[in-house]
Amino acid sequence: MAHTNINTKMKIKKGDKVQVIKGKDRGKSAKVMRVFTDEGKVLVEGLHLFKKSARPKKQGEKGQMISVAQPMMAENVQIVCPSCGKPTRIGITVQADKSKSRYCKKCKATV
Ligand SMILES: [Zn+2]
Repeated sequence: MAHTNINTKMKIKKGDKVQVIKGKDRGKSAKVMRVFTDEGKVLVEGLHLFKKSARPKKQGEKGQMISVAQPMMAENVQIVCPSCGKPTRIGITVQADKSKSRYCKKCKATV
């Protein structure tokens, strides 16, 4: 199976602020709640909402439709750099001890 952008998508971490660059939520930004490494998807707080029917809590109540955030493709979002405040591409530098750190390709700040 072909895996594209495997490096790109895994640059995103839980807690990152991201901006959507594709699809119906384009231009919106929010926090990453969860990262699904295998699927290459991220769950972004309050975005990519889908209607879902909720079960009634009590007998006799009607079930209602609620909006639930669904994971979206990681390549559809860009990390918003906490330093320059812009959605940016992220670069990776490998340290001498083999640990990796991320940097903003715009302002070179460590993200
Ligand atoms: Zn920056």
